[in-house]
Amino acid sequence: MKLHCEVEVINRVHSSLNIRSNAKYLRSTLALGKEPKNVQEYFILHFSSVNKNGTKYKVKCMKQVFVKCLNEGRLPNISELYLSNNSLGLNKNSDWQWLLGLKISKKLKLLDLRENKIINLPKDIWKLQNLVTLKIDKNSLYKLPTTLGRITTLRYLSVSENNLRTLPCSLIRCGLEHLDISSNNFKSEADAPKIADYTPWDIYINSLVHIAAKTVLKHKFFYAPNIIPKTLVELLDNSNMCVCGQAVLNDKYYVIKPFELIGFSISRHIVSNFVNKGSSVSVECFFCSPKCFVK
Ligand SMILES: [Zn+2]
Repeated sequence: MKLHCEVEVINRVHSSLNIRSNAKYLRSTLALGKEPKNVQEYFILHFSSVNKNGTKYKVKCMKQVFVKCLNEGRLPNISELYLSNNSLGLNKNSDWQWLLGLKISKKLKLLDLRENKIINLPKDIWKLQNLVTLKIDKNSLYKLPTTLGRITTLRYLSVSENNLRTLPCSLIRCGLEHLDISSNNFKSEADAPKIADYTPWDIYINSLVHIAAKTVLKHKFFYAPNIIPKTLVELLDNSNMCVCGQAVLNDKYYVIKPFELIGFSISRHIVSNFVNKGSSVSVECFFCSPKCFVK
């Protein structure tokens, strides 16, 4: 992982840093890196105008350092994050909250998560509301979050060399300019629940909570855990998207339908290793109403 940032050192316990005693802080630079001989070991290099060679500190938990920097607003203007080749997906219960905090989610424009052994992306990745470029090639994803299309700024999506069997229908609404889905697993039959087993009530209405939640999302009412229960926040955060762009609260009833690949990119720049460009791809579709279902 490479991350460079400017910091003000306010902890003056390290006498070796030669920080002026009469100064409140010293403008410094931190570089975070991996030991070339042991890829499991991380370090922080601290440079300043009085310590130009830098002092190296071993880091026990790089994630902790990184999260601390983000949470404390040390990286308020970070707009590009290159995190390729870091085995971020090795922990099956990965907590992605470090990525989805208020400050970073408003600024981040580019996220590079290539080669990280990731099996699942968090559903609330849509909170990265200014993300333009997402690179998640060479992971182990079998599906993309159905919420991904809620990132209306997303223009460049690269998910080659994963195990994707379907694409979420929300992506059609995104206005992507570039989509790379080469070397995935789209040819195999994808499983979907038998929708005929459910009533229209189950599929489109479900409960009064769902009806209310749809209204909140449709009108973009503000919500937060200090106003409504956390379970409702989660329900709203995880809402899916109908093929028409409206919110769909149910998580169980969907249909796998073939869609023309060309419909996913407004500039028609799609990279796939399908036999011809007119090929269709399996899409996981949610529906807000019977009208959308029959389309
Ligand atoms: Zn709809």
